[in-house]
Amino acid sequence: MNKVLDLRSDTVTRPTNAMREHMMRAKVGDDVFSDDPSVNALEAFAADYFGKESALFLVSGTQSNLCALLAHCQRGEEYIVGQNAHTYRYEGGGAAVLGSIQPQPLEHAADGTIPLEKIEGAIKPKDSHFARTKLICLENTIGGKVISQEYINQVYEIAQRHQLGFHLDGARLMNASVSQTISAKEIAAPFDSVSICLSKGLGAPVGSLLVGSKPLISDARRWRKMLGGGTRQAGFLAAAGHYALENYVDRLKDDHENAAYLAAELGKVFNEKEGGISVLGQHTNMVFLGIEEDLGEKLKLFLEEKNILIYVRGAGLRLVLHLDIEKQDLDYIVDNFTTFLL
Ligand SMILES: *Cc1c(COP(=O)(O)O)cnc(C)c1O
Repeated sequence: MNKVLDLRSDTVTRPTNAMREHMMRAKVGDDVFSDDPSVNALEAFAADYFGKESALFLVSGTQSNLCALLAHCQRGEEYIVGQNAHTYRYEGGGAAVLGSIQPQPLEHAADGTIPLEKIEGAIKPKDSHFARTKLICLENTIGGKVISQEYINQVYEIAQRHQLGFHLDGARLMNASVSQTISAKEIAAPFDSVSICLSKGLGAPVGSLLVGSKPLISDARRWRKMLGGGTRQAGFLAAAGHYALENYVDRLKDDHENAAYLAAELGKVFNEKEGGISVLGQHTNMVFLGIEEDLGEKLKLFLEEKNILIYVRGAGLRLVLHLDIEKQDLDYIVDNFTTFLL
């Protein structure tokens, strides 16, 4: 196979020809002067699409989450967050480094939620010993898992009762939306701010959105500038993100179906061969495999020669489906896993 099947992440997608043409035609201006028509159009579209007053286009999800944290919390304040959440674990400690904001990480339950009593128990009393609890952060999807609206509403109730802000890292919010057939607006409704990645399964090359109230987004815009994220003719990138939201949301269900197919077929192979690999689960566009530690590197190198790329981390690996992997590619992937185990 000449085509490279890159299953490492849904960030590896390349802009389609249609998207590239759309980018090329984009009208642009200087976005630091709010003069870029394509950025302005995307921000207006996103505010409406996610049901918030205002939206901000940023270069990455990390920058978007950081601007949100900085807008919600001052020095010496804290946010409650999951131990495995991107906003705690995978963003270089940015909130602590740049905002003197303290994270309060909590263990997740197996379904990716944080037990309600743990959240409530972590909220600090108003006392000079403690950092001031200011914000609760959730992530949806988390490790591919969809967090239910019922749970989100229960956490919202806690946030309301304690007058805390409520932020969603919705890097893959659209996967959660499509898999439950509920609108992005409905998922976003209880939150004060929501961050969405346009560069994951949606296929845009660069870009994230932060949505929320006008004052919050206005603060976030100032933080973005301070972080070096004020960009000039960003409309080419905004046009790509806009195109992605208008054209590539519905097809995320193909990724979910492809992931389910791959999990089922690989499950059969692994059961039969008993070769030290197993399917641990499948959630939205991700398939999770368990693998004997010494096999991981061998498997990676074997598949690499067949133009299949995987990302191995210890005894686990994750296959991520996206825009550039089609249904007809799946059997080739299964066949090569089978050959490896022969
Ligand atoms: C990818 C991701 C981010 C950050 O996005 P970048 O654009 O890579 O900075 C944030 N949160 C979650 C859940 C993600 O998966």
